[in-house]
Amino acid sequence: MPERIFNFSPGPATLPYEVLQQAAADVVNYADRGIGVIEMSHRSKEFIAITEQAEARLRRLLGVPEDYHVLFLQGGASTQFAMVPMNLLGAGKKATYLNTGTWSNKAIKEAKLFGEVEIAYSSQEENFDHVPGNTDYTVDPASEYLYFVSNNTIFGTQFHEFPEPTVPLVCDMSSDILSRPIDVSRFGVIFAGAQKNMGPAGVTVVIIRNDLLDRTPDNVPTMFRYKTHADKGSMFNTPPCFAIHVVGLVCKWLEEQGGVAAIAEQNEKKAALIYEAIDSSDFYRGHARPESRSRMNVTFNLPTPELEAEFVAAAAAEGLDGLKGHRSVGGIRASIYNAFPLEGVEKLVEFMRRFQQAHG
Ligand SMILES: *Cc1c(COP(=O)(O)O)cnc(C)c1O
Repeated sequence: MPERIFNFSPGPATLPYEVLQQAAADVVNYADRGIGVIEMSHRSKEFIAITEQAEARLRRLLGVPEDYHVLFLQGGASTQFAMVPMNLLGAGKKATYLNTGTWSNKAIKEAKLFGEVEIAYSSQEENFDHVPGNTDYTVDPASEYLYFVSNNTIFGTQFHEFPEPTVPLVCDMSSDILSRPIDVSRFGVIFAGAQKNMGPAGVTVVIIRNDLLDRTPDNVPTMFRYKTHADKGSMFNTPPCFAIHVVGLVCKWLEEQGGVAAIAEQNEKKAALIYEAIDSSDFYRGHARPESRSRMNVTFNLPTPELEAEFVAAAAAEGLDGLKGHRSVGGIRASIYNAFPLEGVEKLVEFMRRFQQAHG
């Protein structure tokens, strides 16, 4: 393996080196067929097999029940902010949202275009430093669905207890899908852009319970109807072929790591190392409340913005890249998805100790 930096980018994010190597080889010559994976027909038997394999691996890893479709769509997670209410809401109908950060805020804005939106909980006043527990809000049983974001990438908070499925749960899992075991049968819709924890940018995975495919109002255009893609195995039009292939390779890698339960243990261990470094100092201050802390994105501040800028630059000079926090929190954000190595976390923690000694 050549010298690689430790890439803490929130997304697109670091991928397993062996996946990158395989993907690179497959671009030029897929499975010794004398044709690259990005130049073959999406209707070819080779590519249909790639898609079926990727879907089968995803289903195995997450334990997706039979009565759910798995779709590979384009438009990013942001298109799902509109597609969810386009398909599941409508005039005179209502949906409930938990507002826990930038991404839920954006989804709320889109939903309001299609129906009534009730915000059952918001942590906006505390700059989204936590997510609610199940007793902190109520959901109108007449609501079409309850929408939430399982991991708030920007603020570094994460649901460790999912809402009760009294109405269909719709969850944006863009930044923590495949990072821990979940019970898919509790959800109506799960969606995730691939580029954080699952592959490259360009494909969005949607896992949808079959009974939700038939609620779409008649005036929704063909490409924006979930059923269009469900009926055609994500091949209604040209799918994002290369991105799907790489998602398949990442899923294969994850199976080799022992699956989501095994990776969840690793993720817990990695996050704990950084949180310990934060908690054992009065120099670093975590943004998220302890009970809401994310295992994917660790956010923290230093005493001054000047020190934060110095920290980011000095870390980058040592090959610890992409640590600058989002402007809405400032400070530092260490994104440590499945493929981020423990060694990089240990290096960061060691760097934090040294930086504190020099500046604290
Ligand atoms: C990155 C992110 C998005 C936006 O994804 P795009 O694919 O860029 O549209 C949405 N939700 C969450 C939780 C994210 O982390």
